[in-house]
Amino acid sequence: MTNVTKIGVVGAGQMGAGIAHVFALAGHDIVIHDIDENNIQQGIAGIETNMGRQVSKDVITEDEKNAAMARIGAAPKFEDLSDCDLVIEAATENIEIKKDIFRRLSALLKPEGIIATNTSSISITALAAVTDRPEKFVGLHFMNPVPLMKLVEVIRGIATSNETFEICRDLIDKLGKTMALSEDFPGFIVNRILMPMINEAIYTLYEGVGTVEAIDTGMRLGANHPMGPLQLADFIGLDTCLAIMQVLYDGLADSKYRPCPLLVKYVEAGWLGRKTGRGFYDYSGEIPVATR
Ligand code: NAD
Repeated sequence: MTNVTKIGVVGAGQMGAGIAHVFALAGHDIVIHDIDENNIQQGIAGIETNMGRQVSKDVITEDEKNAAMARIGAAPKFEDLSDCDLVIEAATENIEIKKDIFRRLSALLKPEGIIATNTSSISITALAAVTDRPEKFVGLHFMNPVPLMKLVEVIRGIATSNETFEICRDLIDKLGKTMALSEDFPGFIVNRILMPMINEAIYTLYEGVGTVEAIDTGMRLGANHPMGPLQLADFIGLDTCLAIMQVLYDGLADSKYRPCPLLVKYVEAGWLGRKTGRGFYDYSGEIPVATR
């Protein structure tokens, strides 16, 4: 079985940085690549801040933090990923971007190298089909924020081998996380259930049933959710939410999954949630302020 020592991460956004964070703490050597070199530096700086927070809360020691940070390196060139045992892709939720990454990875990685995607919704089988190794391709869907969330949803494509699956199961165990196995259908398990709820919350706002605050308070205190659905949508990223709804709508061909026009409008405006400073809340001040 392939021994996974060195892990490459493609995409240094909130998910890529979180994935690098947990694997570095578990003792793996990490290299992070992004199409935008600034994002790599920002991603690594963010990991340092987040590990610092874990030190102050006594979750890890200063020595563990320093050792983990020393294992994380930048991969400004795509070719820098060539000697990885496993590459986890966490780039933007767009099938063409991901396919292009996987075609290029196929030409680069050693034959025994495993390729994983953190996609929230796109068919693992379709992504695997553009590679030279569909049996070594798997969906590893981490949850946000990765250091805190215990679940990793594992999705086997039609060709994913038992060996690849077992290697991934072992890696997840060693991270101290729990696996939920999903069949390869649009949105898998978590987003098939979560995203229509978020989309419905946006319809509830769009139709004027309640304000942002009323909707979020209603679900926090009335359904005991730790975050309101609009707060959660901002946290996930509205572009990602829209991309997932579009995959559910196209893939399941049922009008109940149609993305709310207000969600489309926010994405058109570039109001993508916390990562751009504005979504259903405005994040420019000390405390987020509801915008509707
Ligand atoms: P993000 O917007 O924070 O980061 C995406 C990163 O990918 C950016 O830094 C961007 O520069 C980079 N990128 C874009 N094209 C690239 C390319 N061709 N090569 C290399 N890098 C490229 O997004 P995110 O929230 O981190 O999401 C990343 C992936 O994780 C998506 O597939 C998303 O569906 C999935 N995901 C997101 C969440 C969430 O809550 N946000 C949860 C689970 C899974």
